[in-house]
Amino acid sequence: MTIQDRFCPKCGKPSETDGLCMSCRAADTPWAVCDTRVAITHCPSCGATKQVNTWTDTERDQEELAPDLARSAVHFYPDVKKRSIAVEVRNISPNRSRAYLTITGTLYGLSMEKTCTVELVWHKEQCDRCNRITGSYYEGIVQVRADERDLSPFELQSAATIATQIEDTLIAGGERLSFISDMTENRDGLDITVGSQHIGLLIAQGITAQFGGRYSTHPKLVGEKNGRQIFRITYLVRLPRYQRHDVVKLDRVYVEVEQTDSRHVRVFDLSEGRSRSIKEDEIRRKIGNARNAQPALVAYIAGGMMGILDPETGVTKEYPKKPWQTIVAGENVQVLRDGDILVVMR
Ligand SMILES: [Zn+2]
Ligand SMILES: [Zn+2]
Repeated sequence: MTIQDRFCPKCGKPSETDGLCMSCRAADTPWAVCDTRVAITHCPSCGATKQVNTWTDTERDQEELAPDLARSAVHFYPDVKKRSIAVEVRNISPNRSRAYLTITGTLYGLSMEKTCTVELVWHKEQCDRCNRITGSYYEGIVQVRADERDLSPFELQSAATIATQIEDTLIAGGERLSFISDMTENRDGLDITVGSQHIGLLIAQGITAQFGGRYSTHPKLVGEKNGRQIFRITYLVRLPRYQRHDVVKLDRVYVEVEQTDSRHVRVFDLSEGRSRSIKEDEIRRKIGNARNAQPALVAYIAGGMMGILDPETGVTKEYPKKPWQTIVAGENVQVLRDGDILVVMR
């Protein structure tokens, strides 16, 4: 027979250790403590919530936030296992709810349960972003323009899409003030008003990465806040004068624009049938864009010449057939018109 020589100093029953027995230890431990009241601040315009001094966007409404908010009032003792909190919320007024919590867990192998009531307080406050937007606060404007021409509808649409995608990415990444507060199409092009300099820069870079061209930044001092100078920056984006698939005339030949950067234009020479690089000032004029070419019938091919039926006049005119052109008599080619001349596309 073993002599049991360890007893709990509190209840006198045999103890597994030198100190309190398990049930006395569990009974002595504040295993779950509830705050009686928790408050949350949320923005009535966009639903963002504020913790300490930081705003965070959320898709969840008050109904969905309430159980988690109530759970945040519970503080478990570290040794508690199998923690679980059941929550029932009743709304008392627009800015007050009451949560009834049933808390369970195990401590030193014993099942524990308790209930508590938590008051949920809903504060409303306009968030930093909505505050700036309604106050027409902004840090920059991205002005999208084209060099010596109007923006095409395609460029307008794409620039707006690029800007919106950048905004979505930044906001999702937690940059709440990198918003676009306004986007206006006007006679000169597209103006995008932005809430931070970071998003302004990224939009300017995103648009030039897509279309070529270049951008420049123009800061303007607009005031001072807490001893810091406040600048507003205009990002001037200039899209290249010539777009992809523009067909232009050089001194002697027609070429199709493939790509433009700030200094050079990559073109497909419609006379020689190969790509090459030219300087922008070699271009004399634009005759159209290959996307707008129209079909014309090749009436015949003979002796290095080809007869093309002008779809507008019905007259067949003869042009030299370039060695690189694979053209079949009786089939259509795509042409652009330069005055009386039909220019055959590739
Ligand atoms: Zn005991
Ligand atoms: Zn807001």
